[in-house]
Amino acid sequence: MRSKIVAGNWKMNKNLEETQALLTELLQKLPETTAEVMVAPTFVNLAEAVKATAGSKVEVAAQNMHFEESGAFTGEIAPGMLKSIGVTNVILGHSERRAYFGEDDALLKKKVDTALAQGMRTIFCFGEELEQRKSGSHFDVVESQLKNALFHLTESDWKHIVLAYEPVWAIGTGETATPEQAQEMHAFIRKTLESVYGSAVAEEVTILYGGSVKPGNAAEIFSKPDVDGGLIGGAALKADDFIGIINGI
Ligand code: PEP
Repeated sequence: MRSKIVAGNWKMNKNLEETQALLTELLQKLPETTAEVMVAPTFVNLAEAVKATAGSKVEVAAQNMHFEESGAFTGEIAPGMLKSIGVTNVILGHSERRAYFGEDDALLKKKVDTALAQGMRTIFCFGEELEQRKSGSHFDVVESQLKNALFHLTESDWKHIVLAYEPVWAIGTGETATPEQAQEMHAFIRKTLESVYGSAVAEEVTILYGGSVKPGNAAEIFSKPDVDGGLIGGAALKADDFIGIINGI
């Protein structure tokens, strides 16, 4: 059975002290859950997060990484560096990376390949912009994002891929896709996967929804059959809100 995951993307928030405080509160209040729980603090606090969550249910992910293992890439972080501090999950393709840092499908393909070659699990983000939804091209956009970055992978590679459908118009805007819109797209994604890889792969891939998930709307979104959890931005920055969302799974 595919895993359920609730992952918090902290983005460029929380200094060291704030990271320690949030993790302490989260660990104290964490409910019993069958879902995997993951947090993605900023790079400089990853080692501290790994230490603070050791022996707990909470896993740690990086928000990005470079596709090369080492070299003259000032300011970048290599997968081996992440692994050396115990981080084996990485978020790739977040819409903010695509929009503000020029990450395109071709670059993301390289990053995914490196992550897999290094034995890291990838949470791969994708989703359409508002204009694309308004013009009715959202299914084509999503299909091409998947095809360009992921459809060269082998069947067994998919064991290490988690998909995160994040409509750009719903990220950080307070506007959420309705549970029906989320289910419609997730079912489309699973069907697309099935057409390329067959039903065994399609049924096993975890597909998260991301975009203004809050304690008040999480349970309804997560109740949809093809929604296997969430990638949470703003609401992951407060322990009580994040826990409220975990309780929705
Ligand atoms: C995100 O950044 O992945 C995200 C979903 O943000 P938010 O929950 O704030 O919309």
